[in-house]
Amino acid sequence: MPRSRNDYPDNPMVAPMRFKRATLNTMREFKRMRPWRGTEVEKMAKFIWLYEQLNEIYLPDNHVILEFGRMTDNGDSGSSHYRPYEHTVRLQGKFSVITALHEFRHAMGGDEYQAVKWSVNLYRITFPRLFASMQSQGHVIRARRS
Ligand SMILES: [Zn+2]
Repeated sequence: MPRSRNDYPDNPMVAPMRFKRATLNTMREFKRMRPWRGTEVEKMAKFIWLYEQLNEIYLPDNHVILEFGRMTDNGDSGSSHYRPYEHTVRLQGKFSVITALHEFRHAMGGDEYQAVKWSVNLYRITFPRLFASMQSQGHVIRARRS
């Protein structure tokens, strides 16, 4: 759900955070799958796998449903969103690990602040080199607004 601009944390909140061991193991395995590689169907399967693992860890009795809209090779993932009433995350646009994590955190009940902080830091811990190169190129990591 879009919020006012002022609600949106405009900086990646890089902060020390603790994650469950199972979450870190899941992310490590997800990284080994090379989530950005493969056909669209192959990439979808990897993101579905990630959600299955996270569902088991965080939402064992109330799995969030993952659906895909129109996926693209470029652009952004900004129209992805979580629909609370249907407990469904819809990913669309470019495949984005940060966005997938961001929306999952909303499905866990997180507000925008929690969703950004959780997704950015879990991404940073899992993909430290990618994260560093994004930062050094001046990319602002924007974990979207919905
Ligand atoms: Zn959000």
